[in-house]
Amino acid sequence: MNRVAADDWRRRGQERYLLGASFKRMAWSTKDPQWDHDHCEFCTRKFALAEIPDSLQEGYATPTLQHWVCPECFEDFREEFGWIERHKS
Ligand SMILES: [Zn+2]
Repeated sequence: MNRVAADDWRRRGQERYLLGASFKRMAWSTKDPQWDHDHCEFCTRKFALAEIPDSLQEGYATPTLQHWVCPECFEDFREEFGWIERHKS
């Protein structure tokens, strides 16, 4: 189990909207054709299609695909935030 320091640089008050959220691991996608990337809610790494340099193609998304978290941050914060991982939609 990872415990993340209280002053970890990735913390920006995400508990206001991500406490107890449910996530599903999936390839990055978007419902909005105007939107070509998302950022990890914690470390701000970019999710996008493979042609975008330094981007991630897979991560954990909330049901609306509004919030994305990279696998590393998901593991770090899942317990503290009480996240539920959905395996089916
Ligand atoms: Zn991250």
